[in-house]
Amino acid sequence: MDIKKYLEAGKIGKEAREYGKELIKEGVSYYDVAEKVEKYIRDSGALPAFPVNLSVNNIAAHYSPIKGDNLYFRKGDVVKLDLGAHIDGYISDTAVTVEVGTNKWGDLIEASAEALNNVIKAIRPGITTSEIGKIVETTLSFYGYNPIRNLTGHGLGRYDLHHGLSIPNYDDGSSTKILPGMAFAIEPFATNGRGYVREGKGGNIYIFRKRENLKGIYKEMFQEFKALPFAARWCTHYENYQSLLRKGSLLGILYHFPILQERKRFMVAQTEHTILLTQDEVIVTTR
Ligand code: MN
Ligand code: MN
Repeated sequence: MDIKKYLEAGKIGKEAREYGKELIKEGVSYYDVAEKVEKYIRDSGALPAFPVNLSVNNIAAHYSPIKGDNLYFRKGDVVKLDLGAHIDGYISDTAVTVEVGTNKWGDLIEASAEALNNVIKAIRPGITTSEIGKIVETTLSFYGYNPIRNLTGHGLGRYDLHHGLSIPNYDDGSSTKILPGMAFAIEPFATNGRGYVREGKGGNIYIFRKRENLKGIYKEMFQEFKALPFAARWCTHYENYQSLLRKGSLLGILYHFPILQERKRFMVAQTEHTILLTQDEVIVTTR
């Protein structure tokens, strides 16, 4: 584990999150926020570990804008800003929820932030993933909310956003232990719904599913994006990129992430930090 690079990626992720949080205002376009935050990450000497996600209200995750999508933040929107930076493949992954111009969902947002805080306080070598899930679930239920059960935190590997561990937001009975040397993201999703997401249309985020024996433009694209998620917006320098993305998905070379929305369109809030566990320390890289 290259702690130095993880720390640097974490610091940049944190700063980009705080910067992006201030940009989200009524009338501002999703596209501008995503582009500015990604530029901030690049200008800081890192690369985005995945496209900036701006998932609004009942959408829990995986919306990233495209130019011309005509989406602007509206008063009352509950916006999950989820972003990541990487240095040489060492990733930070962090998220915050912002309510635009109102304070109707303050306690939902607080519930998810508090669940994350409570988990961080409890992290120790040997803690199991179900113990973590139980802390999330208990905290959220104290506020009267549910966790989203089919969204999880995850281990982080080099150039690997979802590596090994899956860390539930409820007590799923799993006995996987968190051990020194692990890097991982904890991300409690809180909802006033029953707590399940389903796939929806659109999203504009892709990842290489096939990673060997690639040919032509796909080989070039893989050299650029590696095994990390990338945005359709980032492909405009490839000729006919829209058809490349479509064809790549049809052929199974690429995977297209669908948006994930609360099943009955209830509200969703999310908070996320990246954590390193060493022999004697719990390091929250994005705080
Ligand atoms: Mn994230
Ligand atoms: Mn994550």
